[in-house]
Amino acid sequence: MIRLGLFLLALSATSALSAPPEPGEAPLTIVIHGGAGALERGRYTPSEEAAYKSKLSEALDTGYAVLESGGAALDAVEAAIVVMENSPLFNAGKGAVFTREGENELDASIMDGRTKAAGAVAGVTHIKNPIRLARAVMERSPHVMMIGKGAEEFAKEQGLEFVKRSYFRTEARWKAYKSAVEKEKSEKRGDKESGLPHDFKYGTVGVVALDANGDLAAGTSTGGMTLKRYGRVGDAPIIGAGTFADNNSCAVSSTGWGEYFIRLTIARDICAQVEYAGKTVAEAANNVIHERLQESGGDGGVIVLGRNGDYVMEFNSAGMFRGVRQGEVKEVAIYRD
Ligand code: ASP
Repeated sequence: MIRLGLFLLALSATSALSAPPEPGEAPLTIVIHGGAGALERGRYTPSEEAAYKSKLSEALDTGYAVLESGGAALDAVEAAIVVMENSPLFNAGKGAVFTREGENELDASIMDGRTKAAGAVAGVTHIKNPIRLARAVMERSPHVMMIGKGAEEFAKEQGLEFVKRSYFRTEARWKAYKSAVEKEKSEKRGDKESGLPHDFKYGTVGVVALDANGDLAAGTSTGGMTLKRYGRVGDAPIIGAGTFADNNSCAVSSTGWGEYFIRLTIARDICAQVEYAGKTVAEAANNVIHERLQESGGDGGVIVLGRNGDYVMEFNSAGMFRGVRQGEVKEVAIYRD
């Protein structure tokens, strides 16, 4: 009995403390998501599906090209997120969902797994690429998070690109907003807990990457949830909830019902299970999404990438826009298939 105990102890110690791979040992990898939600098959026409898949594929290739040319995971994360922020298809940058007041307010964050530095912005309204501003907060300010007007003041100083608020508006999101307003009126209720009808959010974007140095990074960008209250901040800019990266464990980007992801510190919990309990990224993500998140009543998904190149794209919603590129492996998907 004692022997078995010692053996098990030795086993778990080996997996928890195994040395990180040498630079270049783990495969260059990029994993992306474009939001999770009620994405049942048949929700999109074949041509809409093709448009989503082609944009996901472009984002993957853009980020992977950075990694292949020896670039940092952080640069790959930013480059791939910018592709999706600039696309009207996703709920980030152009194409962001509308607040209760019919405006767009954007949140983003980024984290460097090598240094554990992080940057985040919330409630910005004129910044074309919020992920760039999050990175500027991380690298060029002494802070981790800046919000609203102050964040935009800082963006001005840093020479970031500003756009009119109307830049973010797309007809599809405006229609979704109008129908959410109507639905809420006719049902005379939102969801009791959050006041948000949770089937009206899709398309947050997130990226995790592993570079030739063996460094991990993660980033997330979103317009939040349709009908969110003025000033509501979701999980995407919260380090440990929407985004987390640490070379000692893993890199995570989340999407889903943000309030649950904040309460459960989803991203950090996954990496903590990997770091302290010696779980694989698949075991940790499975526990957090299918047990902890599921039991709490929340929904959504995560992309997780370990320092050895193990990755997982896990969700408890009907679907999640997602993709991975690792050497010859390249996949994009929407539904649970
Ligand atoms: N997590 C985002 C938020 O709550 C929304 C989403 O991922 O769809 O703001």
